[in-house]
Amino acid sequence: MDHAADPRRAIPRTDAVLADPRLARAAAMLGHGPVKQAVTAAQQRARRGELDPATVADAALADLPTTAGGLRPVLNATGVVLHTNLGRAALSPAAVDALVAASGYTDVELELATGRRGRRGRAARDALAAAVPDAGAVHIVNNGAAALVLAATALAGGREIVVSRGEMVEIGDGFRLPDLLGSTGARLREVGTTNRTALADYAAAVGPDTGFILKVHPSNFVVTGFTAAVPVTELATLGVPVVVDVGSGLLARDPLLPHEPDAATTLRAGAALVTASGDKLLGGPQAGLLLGSAELVERLRRHPLARAVRVDKLTLAALEATLRGPPHPTRQALHTPAEHLRARTEALRRAAGVGQVVRSVAVVGGGGAPGVELASWALALPARYAEPLRTGEPPVLGRVADGRLLLDLRCVPEHDDPAVAAAVRKV
Ligand SMILES: *Cc1c(COP(=O)(O)O)cnc(C)c1O
Repeated sequence: MDHAADPRRAIPRTDAVLADPRLARAAAMLGHGPVKQAVTAAQQRARRGELDPATVADAALADLPTTAGGLRPVLNATGVVLHTNLGRAALSPAAVDALVAASGYTDVELELATGRRGRRGRAARDALAAAVPDAGAVHIVNNGAAALVLAATALAGGREIVVSRGEMVEIGDGFRLPDLLGSTGARLREVGTTNRTALADYAAAVGPDTGFILKVHPSNFVVTGFTAAVPVTELATLGVPVVVDVGSGLLARDPLLPHEPDAATTLRAGAALVTASGDKLLGGPQAGLLLGSAELVERLRRHPLARAVRVDKLTLAALEATLRGPPHPTRQALHTPAEHLRARTEALRRAAGVGQVVRSVAVVGGGGAPGVELASWALALPARYAEPLRTGEPPVLGRVADGRLLLDLRCVPEHDDPAVAAAVRKV
């Protein structure tokens, strides 16, 4: 073999490729490991003759991930606003800015004016309290499940939680509320039946051993037909605290979701404590909210378990900005008029050059407002588009129905419409 003509001799050495300023910059962002891996892979392709040796650095660069983390941003064209597999609520730009600002050293537990130690997360708590003036006090933990566990442990440890049989739900991925609450050492006292529970059922079960009555909003299913549940106003007459898990984190009534309980109304109805998630209809980061009487909230805050479910500074920053900032993506997605979506979908069809504009039905999803349907529009494409769109860059997720792929723009930020069109054209 003629060595001078052997392309392998022209393959640049690893250290020479790594010295390329573009790759050096990438290594500063992504770490040395992934960059070296990409270079080695490109050299191997050149050795196999699949790549011009002069382009090894370019190929390595093209192969690099955009961030050091493995989570990739995706475009949610499923029409499911709070998609559990896609991380529930998308944060607003205001929340993203706030969490980036809090990511370094920050005054999360310091009062800059006095130089003294401050109460952790005070600003986020103030924002939550301002959003729900009916709450005597508020506390923030890791997630909705942690809020419930903290309430059960601190207020009913070794005692009974009285709860309707129809509300012992599975919240997803095999996690069930009865197991979660049972793990705290509280005993569950189930009353009533799957479809009907009356005030008398609760009254008969309440006694000296009752820690609290728990009411859980069935946030991922609807029971219809011969049903009965007891409103909070009536439960509040039984002389024990009523804790209500509203789930979705709606803080005040939303006319679009008339059957979704909200924190303010539930507290006014007499609940001693309300628990909710931060990343559902509230539109913020994963968090658990506890709102209620100052006395109960203080007991929760002082319980040793509170430290184990303590919320992170990034979450506090994003939550506060969600509460104080402009309408967040979840709210925008829910309230975008169908006619506006139709116009965007028509434009998408023209830009993509394929498909049909059809009526679609979007849903809230993710444990909120079950049964609520939002009239929407979609670009219908052959089902074979689904895989290349999902595995492309950026990944575009649609919904396959009746052998077609539907791309519903309700949860796609409008400025990303051209990216969806480009992805479809590429397929
Ligand atoms: C979502 C939900 C939970 C769990 O909240 P996480 O924030 O996911 O931990 C608990 N109860 C209800 C009613 C819910 O909807």
